[in-house]
Amino acid sequence: MKTTTEIRSDFLEFFRSKGHAVVPSSSLVPGNDPTLLFTNAGMVQFKDVFLGAEKRSYTRATSSQRCVRAGGKHNDLDQVGYTARHHTFFEMLGNFSFGDYFKKDAIVWAWELLTEVWKLPKDKLLATIYHTDDEAFEIWNKIVGLPPERIIRIGDNKGAPFASDNFWQMADTGPCGPCTEIFYDHGAHIAGGPPGSPDEDGDRYIEIWNNVFMQFDRQADGTLVPLPAPCVDTGMGLERVSAVLQHVHSNYEIDLFQHLIKAAAAITGTTDLEHKSLRVIADHIRACSFLIVDGVLPSNEGRGYVLRRIIRRAIRHFWKLGALSSDGSFWRMVAPLIDVMGEAYPELVQKRELVERALKAEEAAFAQTLDAGMQRLEGYLAQGGGTIDGEQLFQLHDTYGCPPDLIADILREKGTELPPTAMAEYERLMEQQRERARAAGKFAGGTALPADLIAQLKPTEFVGYEHLEAGGLEV
Ligand code: ATP
Ligand code: MG
Ligand code: MG
Ligand code: MG
Repeated sequence: MKTTTEIRSDFLEFFRSKGHAVVPSSSLVPGNDPTLLFTNAGMVQFKDVFLGAEKRSYTRATSSQRCVRAGGKHNDLDQVGYTARHHTFFEMLGNFSFGDYFKKDAIVWAWELLTEVWKLPKDKLLATIYHTDDEAFEIWNKIVGLPPERIIRIGDNKGAPFASDNFWQMADTGPCGPCTEIFYDHGAHIAGGPPGSPDEDGDRYIEIWNNVFMQFDRQADGTLVPLPAPCVDTGMGLERVSAVLQHVHSNYEIDLFQHLIKAAAAITGTTDLEHKSLRVIADHIRACSFLIVDGVLPSNEGRGYVLRRIIRRAIRHFWKLGALSSDGSFWRMVAPLIDVMGEAYPELVQKRELVERALKAEEAAFAQTLDAGMQRLEGYLAQGGGTIDGEQLFQLHDTYGCPPDLIADILREKGTELPPTAMAEYERLMEQQRERARAAGKFAGGTALPADLIAQLKPTEFVGYEHLEAGGLEV
């Protein structure tokens, strides 16, 4: 059986053999785009190359890009622990053509890698195409030989959170085009319908690979002008394809996650390896460690606030398992993470001490109030007949350091949810507090970390609050 490490290198080697330059992953903090919260796809580091604003010495590239989808436009934080396939941090394997090859080569190579190199059963694979993209249909059907019933035409997303959307665009104007996505059918024993069906959000048909064909330049009036040199941008989740290749259903069952889950079980003394809390801890240690490696530290705003919220969610799971120890818990997951990812990411090994100390400091601060905060929450819930209001939400954050998304997560476990009115009231109270702080000449925010730790990091600037949307500073 292939390990995740072997699968990553198989991918890069395959595309190297097709003339692609192997390009290292870029930072999770996008260097070329201060409006983007985190690098959330392989194409981010090539954005200017696609736009023609930057030239490289190659026209074909391949990478394994570290990505975070938490906060911001793509926010999968609330999916973690609930689906078999979503992480906050994941690696996106990609191949890119900058005005070089196009649809036919991309599709044929994707199929060659999946079915010839990796020998996946052809009858378990499906493809979606954009509903008007007859060219892609012909390639799938005539060249690859995929039967028409396994080529599904998909339109535009109508705003449903999970609905497939097979048209990609970088922004309201600029490069855009149709996608074709490859799905793997994990079998009828798992709930969920095929892409495009009403129950497509199950875990039976799992999207493994998205191939985007940038072929138009959208004008301000909405018209699509063909690009002189169309481009290809693809992304495949390493953990998802590893699950398929390791003959398991859930990403959490792959070698890499099993190692982390076993480590979390040992640290917390948990015997049930399927416990959701272990999965969440295994997921969150990756996001938190790599964010710190890339220069983010816990704080009350922007990127640092997203990191803080993920760390606190992880620590709450240690608490839930009754496993918070006086010299910290979460930081102990860094060593097992290095076991499985240190070879591919030497920067993780180099910055180990920094990561451990940052996690320790954040846990030490939060652990002081967490228990009391949880008791206060129970009190509020008992008082309010199972629900809480905005003032209470504000108190939980302000006094006990429990952000609203953490409270929402706890309520979800109890089968209920945070009332939107409470969230609105919370926002109002937060804004009042910020104004008071401004009037007093104080910064709301800052960090409780030792100065020498902070000095080791490059500051990161994030200006894109308008991109945070729901799930960023809100729940
Ligand atoms: P999904 O519909 O399953 O949420 P997506 O359509 O949002 O996935 P893309 O933006 O097309 O994903 O990203 C390309 C690939 O990256 C996906 O096909 C998938 O393999 C992988 N991927 C996307 N989001 C995640 C995630 N949160 N965790 C792990 N892998 C992911
Ligand atoms: Mg998604
Ligand atoms: Mg999708
Ligand atoms: Mg997709």
